[in-house]
Amino acid sequence: MTSPITQLRDRINETLSSGSEDDTKSIREQSSLFQCRTCNTVYVAIDKTRCKDCDDAVEPVRATLSNA
Ligand SMILES: [Zn+2]
Repeated sequence: MTSPITQLRDRINETLSSGSEDDTKSIREQSSLFQCRTCNTVYVAIDKTRCKDCDDAVEPVRATLSNA
């Protein structure tokens, strides 16, 4: 029979292994460009939520120039 401890340990191992994959994926998909919709200022940052000029919310911009 499988003990609860063993099940818990297996679950932790699964969480750890899948967690690292999620981290890698999220970093890869994470945009480094953020644009303020109000003043159109584009920021290059790992994580940014506010425009420093008008304090409005900025949105991630895809790193493609197809729509530029
Ligand atoms: Zn702004």
